[in-house]
Amino acid sequence: MREYREASREFHPDNTVVYVGPVPVGGQPIAMMVGPCAVESREQLVATAHAVRDAGFPILRGGAYKPRTSPYSFQGMHDQGLELLDEVRREFGLRVVTEVMSESDVDKVAAHADMLQIGSRSMHCQRLLEAIADAGKPILLKRGFHATIAEWLLAAEYILRRGNRQVALCERGIRSFDDEFTRNVLDLTAVQVAKRETHLPVIVDPSQGTGRADLVIPMAKAAIAAGADGLLIEAHPNPAAALSDSAQQIPTSELAHLRTEAELMARAMGRTLASGSGALLV
Ligand code: PEP
Ligand code: MN
Repeated sequence: MREYREASREFHPDNTVVYVGPVPVGGQPIAMMVGPCAVESREQLVATAHAVRDAGFPILRGGAYKPRTSPYSFQGMHDQGLELLDEVRREFGLRVVTEVMSESDVDKVAAHADMLQIGSRSMHCQRLLEAIADAGKPILLKRGFHATIAEWLLAAEYILRRGNRQVALCERGIRSFDDEFTRNVLDLTAVQVAKRETHLPVIVDPSQGTGRADLVIPMAKAAIAAGADGLLIEAHPNPAAALSDSAQQIPTSELAHLRTEAELMARAMGRTLASGSGALLV
């Protein structure tokens, strides 16, 4: 028996389906989570929500609390960002995924979001994993950028063993020796390994994974081919003006193209793209 007992397929042979509101993550349809790296203003978020909804994507992802390497970088809008996410959630009928960075914020963020994200830098914060598990919301668990696959699965185990079984894993790239052309190495092998080792859905984030907007759609398609159950894509109405991760956000004007490309690849894999009301036929 693996040390990640409850995460393992040995323990639970059938695929787990995580529900973000009505949207299934981990079944046949592929779940698209799309939105800005950070919530920056009402105008920016409303424009993004319009584009996300118009492209037919059911889940908006945006950060109110941003884990930044430098304390001088934009840290997110915090409470105001949560309020804005709540507003567009109601106005546009989208489901919302957003990050929790601190144990003391768990309840507040859980009150505004349909799914809670644990960021790459927080994957090792075990007290935070336990606190977030107890909030009873689905969780998107990003892989630490220097974490082994086993460490990532053991982080999931911290959540599962507290009785919260709604965990989706997220591969977002790992740090390696070559950062000349890409920010990270998007480890698509980890998608297959995680799917064989565990029963949990696996999401891929080609935005943090490459750090380059021009590589996002190609690697999104590669992720679907590798068996991903969903994609996390950063999109902004005006990426050049974005307050964080400017180089990797695709313009919202490209979301229709993203949808077409993702649908083509989904169809090749015998899958569809998830919508708010079940699976859209492609
Ligand atoms: C993000 O999703 O914007 C983010 C900061 O991701 P990560 O935790 O993977 O670096
Ligand atoms: Mn980002």
